[in-house]
Amino acid sequence: MTGETPAVTASPAGGLAAVEQEIAHACREAGRDRASVTLIAVSKTFDAAAIEPVIASGQRVFGENRVQEAKAKWPALLSAHPGLVLHLIGPLQSNKAREAVALFDAIHSVDRPSICEALAKEIKSQGRHPQLFVQVNTGEEPQKAGVAPQEADAFIAACRDKYGLNISGLMCIPPVDQAPAPHFALTAKIAARNGLKNLSMGMSADFATAIQFGATHVRVGTAIFGHR
Ligand SMILES: *Cc1c(COP(=O)(O)O)cnc(C)c1O
Repeated sequence: MTGETPAVTASPAGGLAAVEQEIAHACREAGRDRASVTLIAVSKTFDAAAIEPVIASGQRVFGENRVQEAKAKWPALLSAHPGLVLHLIGPLQSNKAREAVALFDAIHSVDRPSICEALAKEIKSQGRHPQLFVQVNTGEEPQKAGVAPQEADAFIAACRDKYGLNISGLMCIPPVDQAPAPHFALTAKIAARNGLKNLSMGMSADFATAIQFGATHVRVGTAIFGHR
């Protein structure tokens, strides 16, 4: 498999198995340990009935892009299945920071001072420490969240120095109409020069390429759950 075509299957469990196989293959090709890549199963728009078989197949890490949707469906799943890990992969608004810090174990969309401030406040008051990623808008698309590549170094420094946030890595979403590889390479380069070891990059269509470029977290929805 090349990784460029989503392997959509009729069952989420089958989709998960195919994605797992492709991740293992990409890791071998890249000379990487399978354990160095975390698969985030992106379950947005799918309900508990679709998610349960994926949990039953052994998947533990899930991603959602909206705080409200996640709040509606995850508390019950989390209490039924101890040990699950939930990532917020979509944009965050300051007024949702409290709920986001309470519910999620990781937040991939840190991209502006108001979010930093809100997160710092909630982390302090709740005593919860979600893993944080700064989103970089590598394609400099006006409609997309994320800091511009040329502003990333200063923003990462401000996260640490001004807001006391422990940033673990970077996240990017390449433009849909472009080859993803240069965007993954740029994200990896910015992370390296800022001493950040985690890279959240790669979706259904390009996670194998992302692994080649050092992704530590791949966010895969369609190839597991089917089309939304
Ligand atoms: C929906 C989503 C994904 C998963 O996309 P697929 O193409 O379905 O794998 C990954 N990352 C983000 C930020 C998303 O919103």
